[in-house]
Amino acid sequence: MICPKDFKGSVRENEPFAGLTSWRIGGPACFLIEPESERDLAALAVHLKREGACYRILGGGTNLLVDDGGVKTAVLRLSSPLFTGMTFRAETAELGAGLSLKKFVAAAMKQGLCGFEHLAGIPGSVGGAVVMNAGKGREGGSISDIIEGVRVMDYCGRSSELARRSIKFSYRASGLDDLIVLSVKVKLAAAADMAAVRKRVKDYAVYRTQTQDFTRPSAGCVFKNPDGDSAGRMLDACGLKGRRCGGAVFSRRHANFILNMGGASCADVLSLMDTAVSSVKERFGTILEPEVKLWR
Ligand SMILES: Cc1cc2nc3c(=O)[nH]c(=O)nc-3n(C[C@H](O)[C@H](O)[C@H](O)COP(=O)(O)OP(=O)(O)OC[C@H]3O[C@@H](n4cnc5c(N)ncnc54)[C@H](O)[C@@H]3O)c2cc1C
Repeated sequence: MICPKDFKGSVRENEPFAGLTSWRIGGPACFLIEPESERDLAALAVHLKREGACYRILGGGTNLLVDDGGVKTAVLRLSSPLFTGMTFRAETAELGAGLSLKKFVAAAMKQGLCGFEHLAGIPGSVGGAVVMNAGKGREGGSISDIIEGVRVMDYCGRSSELARRSIKFSYRASGLDDLIVLSVKVKLAAAADMAAVRKRVKDYAVYRTQTQDFTRPSAGCVFKNPDGDSAGRMLDACGLKGRRCGGAVFSRRHANFILNMGGASCADVLSLMDTAVSSVKERFGTILEPEVKLWR
Protein backbone atom coordinates (compact mmCIF):
# COMPACT_ATOMS: atom_id res chain seq x y z
CA MET A 1 0.00 0.00 0.00
CA ILE A 2 1.42 3.35 -1.04
CA CYS A 3 -0.51 5.31 1.64
CA PRO A 4 -1.03 4.63 5.35
CA LYS A 5 -4.38 3.47 6.74
CA ASP A 6 -6.84 6.35 7.27
CA PHE A 7 -4.89 8.56 4.85
CA LYS A 8 -6.99 11.46 3.59
CA GLY A 9 -6.16 12.98 0.24
CA SER A 10 -6.03 12.02 -3.39
CA VAL A 11 -3.91 9.30 -4.98
CA ARG A 12 -3.59 8.93 -8.74
CA GLU A 13 -1.61 6.24 -10.52
CA ASN A 14 0.41 6.71 -13.70
CA GLU A 15 -0.27 10.42 -13.96
CA PRO A 16 1.58 11.83 -17.01
CA PHE A 17 4.02 14.65 -16.19
CA ALA A 18 3.19 16.24 -19.52
CA GLY A 19 0.05 17.48 -17.76
CA LEU A 20 1.87 18.49 -14.58
CA THR A 21 4.76 20.57 -15.90
CA SER A 22 4.96 23.84 -17.82
CA TRP A 23 7.26 22.18 -20.40
CA ARG A 24 4.53 19.59 -21.10
CA ILE A 25 7.21 16.89 -21.15
CA GLY A 26 7.65 13.68 -19.17
CA GLY A 27 6.34 10.16 -18.72
CA PRO A 28 4.13 9.15 -15.82
CA ALA A 29 4.46 9.59 -12.08
CA CYS A 30 3.85 6.11 -10.63
CA PHE A 31 1.82 7.74 -7.85
CA LEU A 32 0.77 11.36 -7.56
CA ILE A 33 -0.31 11.86 -3.95
CA GLU A 34 -2.00 15.01 -2.65
CA PRO A 35 -2.43 14.87 1.14
CA GLU A 36 -5.36 16.74 2.60
CA SER A 37 -3.58 18.12 5.67
CA GLU A 38 -0.21 18.43 7.37
CA ARG A 39 -1.20 15.50 9.56
CA ASP A 40 -1.82 13.31 6.52
CA LEU A 41 1.47 14.48 5.02
CA ALA A 42 3.37 13.57 8.21
CA ALA A 43 1.71 10.13 8.42
CA LEU A 44 2.50 9.58 4.73
CA ALA A 45 6.16 10.58 5.22
CA VAL A 46 6.51 8.13 8.14
CA HIS A 47 4.77 5.39 6.16
CA LEU A 48 6.90 5.88 3.03
CA LYS A 49 10.09 5.90 5.11
CA ARG A 50 9.04 2.67 6.83
CA GLU A 51 8.33 1.10 3.43
CA GLY A 52 11.70 2.32 2.11
CA ALA A 53 9.89 4.21 -0.65
CA CYS A 54 11.43 7.38 -2.10
CA TYR A 55 9.37 10.40 -3.02
CA ARG A 56 9.72 13.91 -4.41
CA ILE A 57 7.80 17.13 -3.98
CA LEU A 58 6.12 18.73 -6.96
CA GLY A 59 5.22 22.41 -6.88
CA GLY A 60 3.82 24.12 -9.98
CA GLY A 61 6.13 22.06 -12.22
CA THR A 62 7.53 25.21 -13.88
CA ASN A 63 11.19 24.41 -13.35
CA LEU A 64 11.24 20.68 -14.07
CA LEU A 65 12.45 18.46 -16.87
CA VAL A 66 11.06 14.96 -16.38
CA ASP A 67 12.40 11.84 -18.09
CA ASP A 68 10.38 10.39 -20.96
CA GLY A 69 10.03 7.21 -18.89
CA GLY A 70 8.58 9.19 -15.96
CA VAL A 71 9.75 8.63 -12.39
CA LYS A 72 9.52 5.48 -10.31
CA THR A 73 9.25 7.34 -7.00
CA ALA A 74 6.01 8.66 -5.55
CA VAL A 75 5.36 12.35 -6.19
CA LEU A 76 3.72 14.49 -3.50
CA ARG A 77 1.94 17.75 -4.26
CA LEU A 78 0.68 20.20 -1.64
CA SER A 79 -2.41 21.32 -3.49
CA SER A 80 -5.22 20.88 -0.95
CA PRO A 81 -6.78 24.05 0.53
CA LEU A 82 -4.87 23.50 3.79
CA PHE A 83 -1.60 24.05 1.91
CA THR A 84 -2.65 26.89 -0.36
CA GLY A 85 -3.88 29.51 2.09
CA MET A 86 -2.45 32.90 3.01
CA THR A 87 -2.93 35.09 6.07
CA PHE A 88 -1.93 38.74 6.28
CA ARG A 89 -1.17 40.32 9.65
CA ALA A 90 -0.16 43.99 9.36
CA GLU A 91 3.00 43.88 7.23
CA THR A 92 3.70 40.16 7.46
CA ALA A 93 2.07 37.30 5.61
CA GLU A 94 2.05 33.54 6.15
CA LEU A 95 1.87 31.75 2.78
CA GLY A 96 1.09 28.08 2.19
CA ALA A 97 3.67 26.26 0.08
CA GLY A 98 1.08 25.19 -2.48
CA LEU A 99 -0.19 28.74 -3.08
CA SER A 100 0.60 30.17 -6.48
CA LEU A 101 3.08 33.06 -6.41
CA LYS A 102 0.77 34.95 -8.75
CA LYS A 103 -2.11 34.81 -6.23
CA PHE A 104 0.19 36.06 -3.47
CA VAL A 105 1.34 39.04 -5.58
CA ALA A 106 -2.27 39.96 -6.40
CA ALA A 107 -3.37 39.66 -2.74
CA ALA A 108 -0.39 41.64 -1.39
CA MET A 109 -1.24 44.43 -3.80
CA LYS A 110 -4.85 44.43 -2.59
CA GLN A 111 -3.59 44.70 1.01
CA GLY A 112 -1.77 47.94 0.11
CA LEU A 113 1.67 46.43 0.70
CA CYS A 114 4.96 46.62 -1.17
CA GLY A 115 8.28 44.79 -1.30
CA PHE A 116 7.12 41.80 -3.37
CA GLU A 117 7.14 43.47 -6.78
CA HIS A 118 10.27 41.65 -8.02
CA LEU A 119 8.28 38.38 -7.84
CA ALA A 120 5.53 39.56 -10.17
CA GLY A 121 5.12 37.33 -13.20
CA ILE A 122 7.16 34.37 -11.93
CA PRO A 123 5.06 31.22 -12.40
CA GLY A 124 4.88 28.32 -9.96
CA SER A 125 4.13 27.83 -6.28
CA VAL A 126 5.42 29.56 -3.16
CA GLY A 127 7.15 26.33 -2.04
CA GLY A 128 8.94 26.00 -5.38
CA ALA A 129 9.93 29.67 -5.30
CA VAL A 130 11.45 29.26 -1.81
CA VAL A 131 13.41 26.12 -2.73
CA MET A 132 14.62 27.69 -6.01
CA ASN A 133 15.07 31.14 -4.41
CA ALA A 134 13.21 32.49 -7.43
CA GLY A 135 13.67 36.07 -8.45
CA LYS A 136 14.60 38.59 -11.07
CA GLY A 137 17.93 38.00 -12.78
CA ARG A 138 21.13 37.35 -10.82
CA GLU A 139 21.29 40.77 -9.19
CA GLY A 140 17.61 41.77 -9.32
CA GLY A 141 16.42 40.43 -5.96
CA SER A 142 14.80 37.16 -5.02
CA ILE A 143 12.15 35.79 -2.66
CA SER A 144 14.75 35.36 0.10
CA ASP A 145 14.85 39.19 0.41
CA ILE A 146 11.43 39.15 2.09
CA ILE A 147 11.56 35.83 3.98
CA GLU A 148 11.50 35.85 7.79
CA GLY A 149 11.11 32.14 8.35
CA VAL A 150 10.15 28.88 6.68
CA ARG A 151 8.16 25.99 8.17
CA VAL A 152 9.46 22.68 6.93
CA MET A 153 8.89 18.97 7.42
CA ASP A 154 11.67 16.43 7.21
CA TYR A 155 11.33 13.09 5.47
CA CYS A 156 10.51 11.47 8.86
CA GLY A 157 7.39 13.64 9.18
CA ARG A 158 8.82 16.06 11.80
CA SER A 159 7.99 19.70 11.27
CA SER A 160 10.00 22.69 12.48
CA GLU A 161 10.47 26.40 11.90
CA LEU A 162 13.68 27.68 10.31
CA ALA A 163 14.68 31.29 10.85
CA ARG A 164 15.85 33.18 7.76
CA ARG A 165 19.43 33.44 9.08
CA SER A 166 19.77 29.64 9.31
CA ILE A 167 18.89 29.14 5.62
CA LYS A 168 21.75 29.35 3.13
CA PHE A 169 20.04 31.17 0.29
CA SER A 170 22.12 31.94 -2.77
CA TYR A 171 21.44 32.57 -6.45
CA ARG A 172 18.64 30.11 -7.39
CA ALA A 173 19.38 27.87 -4.40
CA SER A 174 18.23 27.54 -0.79
CA GLY A 175 19.80 24.36 0.56
CA LEU A 176 16.25 23.22 1.42
CA ASP A 177 16.10 20.53 -1.28
CA ASP A 178 15.96 17.66 1.24
CA LEU A 179 13.03 19.12 3.17
CA ILE A 180 9.35 19.65 2.48
CA VAL A 181 8.51 23.35 2.60
CA LEU A 182 5.12 23.73 4.31
CA SER A 183 4.74 27.49 4.54
CA VAL A 184 6.74 30.69 4.62
CA LYS A 185 6.49 33.91 6.59
CA VAL A 186 7.31 37.02 4.57
CA LYS A 187 7.88 40.60 5.71
CA LEU A 188 6.51 43.34 3.48
CA ALA A 189 5.99 47.07 4.06
CA ALA A 190 2.99 49.39 3.97
CA ALA A 191 3.01 51.13 0.60
CA ALA A 192 3.10 54.91 0.73
CA ASP A 193 2.22 55.13 -2.95
CA MET A 194 0.14 52.27 -4.37
CA ALA A 195 0.19 53.73 -7.87
CA ALA A 196 3.99 53.36 -7.81
CA VAL A 197 3.67 49.73 -6.63
CA ARG A 198 1.19 48.94 -9.39
CA LYS A 199 3.51 50.57 -11.91
CA ARG A 200 6.49 48.50 -10.72
CA VAL A 201 4.43 45.28 -11.01
CA LYS A 202 3.28 46.29 -14.48
CA ASP A 203 6.84 47.25 -15.50
CA TYR A 204 8.13 43.82 -14.40
CA ALA A 205 5.37 42.11 -16.40
CA VAL A 206 6.27 44.18 -19.48
CA TYR A 207 9.99 43.51 -18.92
CA ARG A 208 9.27 39.76 -18.78
CA THR A 209 7.18 39.73 -21.93
CA GLN A 210 9.90 41.70 -23.72
CA THR A 211 12.83 39.60 -22.53
CA GLN A 212 11.33 36.12 -22.04
CA ASP A 213 9.46 33.87 -24.49
CA PHE A 214 5.93 32.85 -23.54
CA THR A 215 4.85 31.70 -27.00
CA ARG A 216 5.36 27.96 -26.35
CA PRO A 217 5.67 25.68 -23.31
CA SER A 218 9.00 26.07 -21.50
CA ALA A 219 10.55 26.01 -18.04
CA GLY A 220 11.93 29.53 -18.20
CA CYS A 221 15.72 29.87 -18.18
CA VAL A 222 17.36 26.48 -18.64
CA PHE A 223 20.79 27.50 -17.31
CA LYS A 224 21.88 29.71 -14.42
CA ASN A 225 23.71 32.88 -15.31
CA PRO A 226 27.42 32.49 -14.61
CA ASP A 227 29.00 35.12 -12.34
CA GLY A 228 29.08 38.48 -14.12
CA ASP A 229 27.60 37.20 -17.39
CA SER A 230 24.35 36.05 -18.94
CA ALA A 231 23.81 32.47 -20.14
CA GLY A 232 21.38 33.83 -22.77
CA ARG A 233 24.02 36.17 -24.18
CA MET A 234 26.60 33.35 -24.35
CA LEU A 235 24.17 30.93 -26.03
CA ASP A 236 23.23 33.64 -28.52
CA ALA A 237 26.91 34.31 -29.24
CA CYS A 238 27.34 30.59 -29.95
CA GLY A 239 24.66 30.92 -32.64
CA LEU A 240 22.19 28.61 -30.91
CA LYS A 241 19.00 30.65 -31.35
CA GLY A 242 16.66 28.59 -33.51
CA ARG A 243 18.75 25.37 -33.17
CA ARG A 244 16.32 22.46 -33.07
CA CYS A 245 16.28 18.84 -31.93
CA GLY A 246 13.03 16.96 -32.52
CA GLY A 247 10.23 19.05 -31.01
CA ALA A 248 12.55 21.24 -28.93
CA VAL A 249 14.13 24.50 -30.07
CA PHE A 250 16.22 27.33 -28.60
CA SER A 251 13.98 30.39 -28.55
CA ARG A 252 14.84 33.11 -31.07
CA ARG A 253 13.82 35.74 -28.52
CA HIS A 254 15.79 34.40 -25.52
CA ALA A 255 18.46 31.79 -26.21
CA ASN A 256 18.30 30.51 -22.61
CA PHE A 257 14.71 29.33 -23.20
CA ILE A 258 14.15 25.95 -24.86
CA LEU A 259 10.63 25.78 -26.26
CA ASN A 260 8.44 22.73 -26.77
CA MET A 261 7.16 23.23 -30.32
CA GLY A 262 4.89 20.17 -29.97
CA GLY A 263 5.82 16.63 -29.05
CA ALA A 264 9.25 17.53 -27.63
CA SER A 265 10.76 14.76 -25.54
CA CYS A 266 13.07 14.97 -22.56
CA ALA A 267 15.75 13.43 -24.79
CA ASP A 268 15.32 16.30 -27.31
CA VAL A 269 15.79 18.90 -24.58
CA LEU A 270 18.78 17.07 -23.06
CA SER A 271 20.42 16.91 -26.47
CA LEU A 272 20.05 20.71 -26.88
CA MET A 273 21.35 21.22 -23.33
CA ASP A 274 24.44 19.11 -24.16
CA THR A 275 25.02 21.21 -27.28
CA ALA A 276 24.67 24.37 -25.17
CA VAL A 277 27.16 23.23 -22.54
CA SER A 278 29.80 22.09 -25.04
CA SER A 279 29.41 25.20 -27.27
CA VAL A 280 29.73 27.63 -24.34
CA LYS A 281 32.65 25.69 -22.87
CA GLU A 282 34.47 25.73 -26.20
CA ARG A 283 33.89 29.41 -26.89
CA PHE A 284 34.08 30.96 -23.40
CA GLY A 285 35.70 28.28 -21.24
CA THR A 286 32.66 28.48 -18.93
CA ILE A 287 30.68 25.46 -17.76
CA LEU A 288 26.99 26.33 -17.70
CA GLU A 289 25.04 24.95 -14.77
CA PRO A 290 21.40 23.92 -15.30
CA GLU A 291 18.78 25.94 -13.45
CA VAL A 292 16.05 23.42 -14.28
CA LYS A 293 15.82 20.28 -12.16
CA LEU A 294 16.03 16.97 -13.96
CA TRP A 295 13.81 14.18 -12.61
CA ARG A 296 14.48 10.65 -13.85
C1 LIG B 1 7.84 31.15 -18.58
C2 LIG B 1 8.66 30.98 -17.32
C3 LIG B 1 9.30 32.07 -16.76
C4 LIG B 1 10.07 31.93 -15.62
N1 LIG B 1 10.68 33.04 -15.09
C5 LIG B 1 11.39 32.92 -13.95
C6 LIG B 1 11.99 34.07 -13.36
O1 LIG B 1 11.91 35.19 -13.85
N2 LIG B 1 12.71 33.90 -12.22
C7 LIG B 1 12.84 32.67 -11.63
O2 LIG B 1 13.49 32.56 -10.58
N3 LIG B 1 12.27 31.56 -12.16
C8 LIG B 1 11.55 31.67 -13.29
N4 LIG B 1 10.97 30.55 -13.85
C9 LIG B 1 11.23 29.21 -13.25
C10 LIG B 1 10.20 28.78 -12.20
O3 LIG B 1 8.98 29.44 -12.39
C11 LIG B 1 10.68 29.01 -10.78
O4 LIG B 1 11.87 28.31 -10.52
C12 LIG B 1 9.62 28.61 -9.74
O5 LIG B 1 9.94 29.19 -8.50
C13 LIG B 1 9.48 27.10 -9.57
O6 LIG B 1 8.36 26.86 -8.74
P1 LIG B 1 7.45 25.57 -8.92
O7 LIG B 1 6.43 25.60 -7.85
O8 LIG B 1 6.93 25.47 -10.30
O9 LIG B 1 8.51 24.43 -8.61
P2 LIG B 1 8.68 23.01 -9.36
O10 LIG B 1 9.12 23.24 -10.75
O11 LIG B 1 7.48 22.16 -9.15
O12 LIG B 1 9.89 22.39 -8.49
C14 LIG B 1 11.15 23.02 -8.51
C15 LIG B 1 11.98 22.41 -7.35
O13 LIG B 1 11.38 22.83 -6.11
C16 LIG B 1 11.03 21.67 -5.33
N5 LIG B 1 9.80 21.98 -4.60
C17 LIG B 1 8.66 22.53 -5.08
N6 LIG B 1 7.78 22.72 -4.08
C18 LIG B 1 8.38 22.27 -2.95
C19 LIG B 1 8.00 22.18 -1.56
N7 LIG B 1 6.81 22.61 -1.12
N8 LIG B 1 8.88 21.64 -0.69
C20 LIG B 1 10.09 21.19 -1.09
N9 LIG B 1 10.51 21.24 -2.37
C21 LIG B 1 9.66 21.78 -3.28
C22 LIG B 1 10.87 20.53 -6.32
O14 LIG B 1 11.07 19.27 -5.70
C23 LIG B 1 11.95 20.87 -7.34
O15 LIG B 1 13.21 20.43 -6.87
C24 LIG B 1 10.19 30.66 -15.00
C25 LIG B 1 9.51 29.56 -15.54
C26 LIG B 1 8.74 29.71 -16.69
C27 LIG B 1 7.99 28.53 -17.22
